[in-house]
Amino acid sequence: MPDLIVEGLSVEFNGQTAVDDVTFTVNDGEFFTLLGPSGCGKTTTLSTIAGLETPTKGIIRVGPEIFVDAAKHRFLTPEERNLGMVFQSYALWPHMTVEDNLAMPLKIRKASKAEQNRRIGDALNQVGLLPYRKRYPHELSGGQQQRVALARALVYSPSVLLLDEPLSNLDAKLRDRARAWLKELQQSVGITTIYVTHDQLEALSLSDRLAVMGEGKMLQVGTPNEIYDHPNCLAVADFIGRCSFFRAKVLETGAGTLVVDLVDGEGTLRVTSATAFAAGTHVTIGVRSELVKVSQPRDDVPAISVNAIPADLKKASYVGARYEFELMAAGQLIFAEGEHKLDEQQVWLIVPEDGLFVFAED
Ligand code: ADP
Ligand code: MG
Repeated sequence: MPDLIVEGLSVEFNGQTAVDDVTFTVNDGEFFTLLGPSGCGKTTTLSTIAGLETPTKGIIRVGPEIFVDAAKHRFLTPEERNLGMVFQSYALWPHMTVEDNLAMPLKIRKASKAEQNRRIGDALNQVGLLPYRKRYPHELSGGQQQRVALARALVYSPSVLLLDEPLSNLDAKLRDRARAWLKELQQSVGITTIYVTHDQLEALSLSDRLAVMGEGKMLQVGTPNEIYDHPNCLAVADFIGRCSFFRAKVLETGAGTLVVDLVDGEGTLRVTSATAFAAGTHVTIGVRSELVKVSQPRDDVPAISVNAIPADLKKASYVGARYEFELMAAGQLIFAEGEHKLDEQQVWLIVPEDGLFVFAED
């Protein structure tokens, strides 16, 4: 299958922009995720690809086949696009058996009875529900209903699978299993998939690549590693993982290294940075909670040294195998982790030189 390409897509509702000039390419066979907070435009983007919303601007195509060219008023119907969709609510027809639910999209496409039977068997087999073809939705668990919805989306061999938070109705444990199962299914079918979620863990663990959205805009597109290790802006760093921020001013700038002074408290940090910033520039330094070490008691560190910041412990939560800490340092709420409980309230934060994020303040 060719790639799915979205170019300069904008969608408005009553004059309000919900999707703002969004561009991305999903490669053949790729598991691609749209990730972002609630209301950022993920569902609208997916629905527009499916043909359920009409954009004000943009082009959507699969290889040479143009689904949408807003400037030329070209909009294929959902059926003409032949995409598979699963929404958060599985929307199975309650009065129809599993088999009849799957037959529906095939009847719409005028498949013969023999073809319907073969395809229904194949699709139910793929999702491991062949023995359930005569059951009604209410005779299935939530997880099984969700698989029927997937089978129904796959039954007519769509070119692309569109999934909108399909696991969000499952409880936590079932969701973990469903996630692993979904990834396996996607790989075995080899189908190009666009997945929508607000759950960063889902996005990082499932995706070949993901796009982080905020307020209708595309903020960053990359592999899970690229996004986690090299967020391109403060909003992405903040949305993914547990990240804390210090406001700082550049004191010295050298080959790949900056020395910065904390603006709202005592302390100096030495920071590796691929980007050079002039002395005097105001920057925001981001650090992931797993990189912050907490050292106690404060007397262990004889004097203020580079990359050590005095902090007050505010909250410690045991999360199984480790603790998560919330501290106040340099006027900011800082997240840290550790294997041991802290006995003291006044501690040192030790921040590494590598792996910090430096963003220019505007
Ligand atoms: P997400 O899926 O990321 O939570 P949505 O795409 O559902 O976000 O919504 C993006 C924005 O568009 C929100 O501000 C939402 O209120 C608005 N919106 C979505 N659908 C409609 C609609 N049918 N009519 C009016 N506004 C809508
Ligand atoms: Mg949504």
